[in-house]
Amino acid sequence: MSLNKRGIMVVLSSPSGAGKTTLVKLLSKKNNFYTSISHTTRKPRENEVDGIDYFFVKEKKFKNLIKNNKFLEYARVFKNLYGTTKEQVIIKLSNGKNVLFDIDWQGTEQIKSQKLNFKLITFFILPPSKKVLFQRLSNRDMKDKLIVEERMKQFDKDILHWKKYNYVVVNDNLQKCYRKIMNIINKEIKNKKYKYNKLYIENYIQKLI
Ligand code: 5GP
Repeated sequence: MSLNKRGIMVVLSSPSGAGKTTLVKLLSKKNNFYTSISHTTRKPRENEVDGIDYFFVKEKKFKNLIKNNKFLEYARVFKNLYGTTKEQVIIKLSNGKNVLFDIDWQGTEQIKSQKLNFKLITFFILPPSKKVLFQRLSNRDMKDKLIVEERMKQFDKDILHWKKYNYVVVNDNLQKCYRKIMNIINKEIKNKKYKYNKLYIENYIQKLI
């Protein structure tokens, strides 16, 4: 491996419940990408493990990290704070490792504006329909109807940010969506653009809202 090889940054964002976390896990497993582990003040879900899914911290600790300039980006999402610490990702990228980010549009904008010296590819993932989105959210946060309602309301707002991304992909089938993302990444690594139908996506979004 060349010592000069630099990693690439791949951002995946989506309205909550579009299946992005499953996609990130698949991309990471099959391609040996490093997945950035965020800090959050949100409470862990039943199946989540501290240090693997997130670093779950109290608001005071999070604010200290902000004060000490430890974050590459951070944002408030659904009343909780989420952020990516600089050190973990910059070391990996400098060592030639590709890094995946599962972050929202606010964090994506912050990373874009920093113009780091690593290739950045941004993806916005869409659910196939609102019905499927509702089912996914209900399965995940079954006990908390309020959370599901809140996230459904947020959907119409979040989706408006799709234009900020390099690529928009519909997650109607996990394997298909995964292959499309990998095709795009492989083209981009060769400094080629993957042509996709923006008009189709625009129409798709109009139907989703
Ligand atoms: P969840 O609570 O469902 O795990 O995540 C809620 C939202 O926060 C998702 O859209 C997720 O992508 C986003 N998120 C997770 N980690 C980060 C982070 O470090 N920074 C930012 N800006 N957003 C994050």
